[in-house]
Parts: sequence; C-alpha cells; structure tokens
Amino acid sequence: ERVLSGELSNFDERFEQSLRPQLLSQYIGQEKVKDNLGIFIEAAKGRNESLDHVLLYGPPGLGKTTLATVIANEMEVNVRLTSGPAIERPGDLAAVVSSLEPGDVLFIDEIHRLNRSIEEVLYPAMEDFCLDIVVGKGPSARSIRLDLPPFTLIGATTRAGSLSAPLRDRFGVPLRLEYYEVEPLKEIVIRNAGVFDVEIDEQAAVEIARRSRGTPRIANRLLRRVRDFAQVRGNGAITLGIAKEALEMLQVDSHGLDHIDHKLLLGMIERFKGGPVGIDTISASIGEESVTIEDVYEPYLLQIGFIQRTPRGRIATPLAYEHFGYAFPES
Ligand code: ADP
Repeated sequence: ERVLSGELSNFDERFEQSLRPQLLSQYIGQEKVKDNLGIFIEAAKGRNESLDHVLLYGPPGLGKTTLATVIANEMEVNVRLTSGPAIERPGDLAAVVSSLEPGDVLFIDEIHRLNRSIEEVLYPAMEDFCLDIVVGKGPSARSIRLDLPPFTLIGATTRAGSLSAPLRDRFGVPLRLEYYEVEPLKEIVIRNAGVFDVEIDEQAAVEIARRSRGTPRIANRLLRRVRDFAQVRGNGAITLGIAKEALEMLQVDSHGLDHIDHKLLLGMIERFKGGPVGIDTISASIGEESVTIEDVYEPYLLQIGFIQRTPRGRIATPLAYEHFGYAFPES
C-alpha cells in the first residue's frame, strides 16, 4: 500500500473517526469554502429551511466526507453516509431517502459512479422532494408519487468532469476543495498529535506537513508512522530529527514525492529531454496505467509546478530539474 495515497486505506479507517473535526470552526483551511458555507448555513437556518444541495469536488483525502458531517452538525440535523457504488438499484435509493427526517443531510460519496437509472430517480427527489416509483409489472404496473421530507443532498466526487450535466446542474452550491498549504496542514498535524497525546515540535509538524502532498489524510497517516518511530527510536516525543529520520525511512522526500513520482519525473527528464511527452508514452515507460497517472500522480505534480500540461504532452519544469539536481536545458 502506498503511504502517499490520498485514498482511504483500512489502516486509516480505525483512526479517522476520532480525528474528524465536528464544527466549521474546527475545520482547518479551505477558507473560501468555509466563508461561503457559513453564509449559506446561517441563511438557511434563519429561514428554517433545508440547505441547498451541495457538490464537493477535489482529490481524495482533502476533507469532503468530513465537511459533509460538519455541515450536518452546523445545521443540527442527522447525516446519512453512502456512496455511488453502494446504491445499486432505484429501490436502494428510495429506501434511503424515504427514511430521512426533515432537513437531514444525505451524503453520496463518489457520486459520479451512480448509474443513470438511479440518477433519474434522484432528479425529482432533489428538485421537488418526491419519488416516482413504479409498482407492479406488465399491464397492471403503475407509477405512484411519494412525497419526501425536504433534505440536503451532498455529493462528493474526485472527478467533476465525469458528472452528467443534468445532475451537476441540480446542485445549488458547487464547492471545489483545494490542496492545503503547509500552514493549515501543520495546524492539522499539531491538533491531531494532541488527540494522540503525543508531544511534537512545531518544526517537526512543518516537516510532516511539507511532505503530505497538500492532503490531510496523508498528513494524518505520516503522523501516525512518525509517532511509532518516535516511540521505538526516541522517547516518544516527535522532534524535527525524529520526523526527518522517519520520513526518510518511509522514502518520502522533501516535497512529498516517492519512488513512483521519481520514476515518472526522472523518466521524463532523462529519457525524453523533459518532454513534451504523451501520457501513453509515460505510462508505457513506467508501467503505470494512464488513468492512474492522470488521477493519482499527476494532480499533485501539476499543483506544485513540477510538470505542465501542453497540447503536445507533458513537460518537466525547471523546478523538477532543480529538485533532482539537473540543469534545465536552455532553449
Ligand atoms: P475525503 O472525503 O475528501 O476523501 P475525508 O473527509 O475522509 O476526505 O478526510 C480525511 C481525513 O483528513 C479526516 O478523517 C480528517 O481527520 C482529516 N481532515 C480532512 N480535512 C480536514 C480539515 N479541514 N481539518 C482537519 N482535519 C481534516
């Protein structure tokens, strides 16, 4: 399992619940998103209405599920968590939405993976708070309309582009989560070290934050690994030295890159003169699938400016050259 993956692993699951902030004021970073949401929440509460449907999009591990729970807490309603792949038939969706209390939040993770027949059921539920369901078969089949309590759908997706336009258009509040800067990640690390009851130096927290690929889930995971290391090799406290040693052992470099990122970037630099090189060529040369490169490795490398996308393919930037101690070829 890749230490630097933003995806939820079994190893994370045991901890994440205890590390989840409960209120907007405890949700660190994402200031623009929080400002917007704060206003919408207050307005909806003032009118005694349910909150508009919210679409959260951004890479895995940035806090979409956490934010859905925070929104429900702030609205003082219950939250039901489910996911696109878990809703297999229209009946599954009908069962979930008809059990909601007025104002409740229904969170659907990976909403881009809902199948079309279920989307059709979702439209009237989102728009008019009702369900049209067909009962019976053959000539005696008829459609009945079921009223639902008003509710808030919060959809989360890592790929906003894969959402069908009619579904996307039904969300009143689309919000994009961004990779975190080092400062808010550092705060998250310090806060969670507190939850684990482990002492940590600020410099050590910065070091972990810097290598977490802008992703709280990765920061939490690195923190747990470094904590183990501090306990076994040190006296339990996380100092800068301990953090660096532990991260070195995990083969996470100063920018949060691991051996696969290295293979990808060095391949571009050494074999393809820095590009432009097509995604399929990169894929063949490092033995990773194109979609994995596009969804998992590339977004962060683009974010930190190590690669750029051009119409003719990817290019490695001067920053990437510098990281590996290579001179950037002029012209
Ligand atoms: P996603 O649903 O986007 O994959 P999660 O909401 O599950 O991500 O977040 C993963 C973990 O990261 C959470 O358990 C939480 O501990 C931490 N986390 C995410 N966002 C924040 C935040 N803004 N402040 C503090 N911790 C956060």
